[in-house]
Amino acid sequence: MRLTDDIALVGGGPIFGFGLTVGTDAHCYLVDGGDALALIDCGMGSDESMELLVQAVTSAGCDPSRIGTLLLTHYHADHAAGARRYRDRFGARVCAAAEAAPAIESADHDRTSFAAARALGVFGADAAYPACPVDQPLHPGDVLQVGRLSIRYLPTPGHCAGHAAYLIEGGERTYLCSGDALFAGGKIYLQATVDCDLQASLDSLRALADVEFDALLPGHGPIALTGGRLHLDAALAAIRGLSVPGSLA
Ligand SMILES: [Zn+2]
Repeated sequence: MRLTDDIALVGGGPIFGFGLTVGTDAHCYLVDGGDALALIDCGMGSDESMELLVQAVTSAGCDPSRIGTLLLTHYHADHAAGARRYRDRFGARVCAAAEAAPAIESADHDRTSFAAARALGVFGADAAYPACPVDQPLHPGDVLQVGRLSIRYLPTPGHCAGHAAYLIEGGERTYLCSGDALFAGGKIYLQATVDCDLQASLDSLRALADVEFDALLPGHGPIALTGGRLHLDAALAAIRGLSVPGSLA
């Protein structure tokens, strides 16, 4: 689903997304830099999910075999469990925050809360989260070039450790791909998981205060193609009032 000349939404299951793919898949965004493509988050990577995502990339007018980069916002399975399969299929270079890389590379199912979520039946019995090499661990200040677009890594821990947001510049507008750090309505996402940290989450939002952007592309729920910054401002207003922004669930 084309959102703009720069971005297409190509994945997201019916449970937390728009039903482009299956199950619990988070939103997956295709960054179309013209002569280069990147994917931001990839969902669970089941056979059906991959085929639907590939179809969505094709429908957006792009050749899936040209997806050269896979950027992960964080290591939760609904965003990242399929990383290994996309890396194997497309030879995509996998990028994630340096703090998140060890858990992804070792398939640490406790650290990523995959084991806990699977025990609850969140993902279904056939869900898998294989270990995946992280080809490029990201550090503050890192900027990746994807054709005419640049993607800046913004550390945003809190929802979990090693969470990354990405600022996409150089296109028809500026985009903040916020993962599970910020949602429409200024919401955050607090969970009873091993590494969810409220204060870190609030600090991450404060650190975004100086970042200007037009579109908010979160990991779940509504997307704002204009006025994206208003959603961040709503969260910051709550924090300034010594309140905690509402949580997605
Ligand atoms: Zn998450």
